[in-house]
Amino acid sequence: MNPIKVLCIAQERWFIRREQCPCGGHYDEEIQQALTSSSAGPIDEIKARCPACGNMETFRFDISACATHLQPHWTKKLEAYSKVMPEAEAARLVLVPEMERVLGFIEDCQRERNRLGLEFMAEAVAHAQEAIATN
Ligand SMILES: [Zn+2]
Repeated sequence: MNPIKVLCIAQERWFIRREQCPCGGHYDEEIQQALTSSSAGPIDEIKARCPACGNMETFRFDISACATHLQPHWTKKLEAYSKVMPEAEAARLVLVPEMERVLGFIEDCQRERNRLGLEFMAEAVAHAQEAIATN
């Protein structure tokens, strides 16, 4: 099975939680996690077990989008960004995966009770899903 592309590490657990064992159960027991690599980049391999029937499944994730420090030229980017903004902000932009930043932004909106901001984003996501579904 081709590795599943995830945009942040939390998406791995999200994916595994959604998968259903042939018995109808879920792979709730994580047995083993290992980092390997392919020509495409780093692969996270997670073995999980269905506690209902004991079935074991191995999930392979392409985490190249999560491992920002493995992206080309990240040190140059960090150096350049650090010249125009505080270092912590530059590090966040260069090293934190985009998906994590998006989730952080959503949390900020929630904390600030920015209903319009969240509605705007939800509509943009729904619109994009619709466009994929009809193409
Ligand atoms: Zn099962």
